[in-house]
Amino acid sequence: MMELIAFSTPNLFFDRLHKDPAEPGEELWFIFKGSQLLVHENAAEPFQPKNPLLIRSFYMGKFKQSHLHVGELSPSAPLPAGSVWKDLRTLYGKMDEALFGLAGRAVQLVIWDQNHQFCGQCGNKMIDSPKERAKECPICNILAFPKVAPVVMALIQRGDEILLARSPGFPPGVYSVLAGFVNPAETLEQCLKREVLEEVGLEVEDLKYFGSQSWPFPNSLLVAFTCQWKSGEIVMDPVEIEDAQWFKKENLPPLPSYMSLARLMIDKSL
Ligand SMILES: [Zn+2]
Repeated sequence: MMELIAFSTPNLFFDRLHKDPAEPGEELWFIFKGSQLLVHENAAEPFQPKNPLLIRSFYMGKFKQSHLHVGELSPSAPLPAGSVWKDLRTLYGKMDEALFGLAGRAVQLVIWDQNHQFCGQCGNKMIDSPKERAKECPICNILAFPKVAPVVMALIQRGDEILLARSPGFPPGVYSVLAGFVNPAETLEQCLKREVLEEVGLEVEDLKYFGSQSWPFPNSLLVAFTCQWKSGEIVMDPVEIEDAQWFKKENLPPLPSYMSLARLMIDKSL
C-alpha cells in the first residue's frame, strides 16, 4: 500500500488581501528582485530590511502567527548591509520547508503583479480587485488571476521494473519519471496517458494518485501518479527524451534530489 504524501506547508496559509490591524502577529517580509530573494548573508532566511525602497508591495495573508508581506526592491536601492540576493531555486532544500513554500507563493505573486499591469485585451491599466486576489480591467472588466500550470508526473511500473527517462536538460546521467504540462480541457488522467504515449510510445493503465508539490519555477503544480504498463515497446520522442529504459532496484541510474516528489515516488515504488 503506497503512502499518500503531499508536499505542502504543514500549516494552512490564509490568503488575505488586507491586514486586519486588530489581529496580532509578527511581520514577515519576502523581498525580491526578479526571482531572487533577499536573504541573510549567513543564513537561508528572508532578510527583513528597515524601510526598504519598494516599487511594489502587498499583503499576502497569515501563516501561523505571522503576517506575510511581499515586495520588490527598487533597482536603485542599495543592497541592505548583511543581506544578499539568492535565486529562490538555489534555496530549495536549504531553507526551512514552510518558509520555502511561502517564498514560492510570494515570488509567484510578485511576478504575476509585474506581468499583469495592463489589460491583454484593451491595453488599459489594470487595477487590483477589491474582492479577491485578481487584477481587473476597469474598461472591459477582464479579470486576471495568479496563474497555476498543472504538470502531471508518471511513474510507470512493469513487474519489478520502473521506467525512467532522461530529458536533454537534465543534469548529466540523471534519470527521472516522465512529466508533462496539462493541456486546456484535458483531465489529469488524459494528460498522463497522452504524455506517456507521446514520449515513450507506451500504453498505461491503473493510474493511482501519489501526491502533489508546488514548484514555483515559474508557476507549476506537480501532480504525481503511479501507473502500470499495459502494452507497447519503448519508442522515444527524439525531441523530449534523450533516453528511456526499464530499471530494476539493483541497477538504478543517478536519480533526482532526495527532496523532490519524483525521487520520493521512485523510492516508494521499489
Ligand atoms: Zn481591458
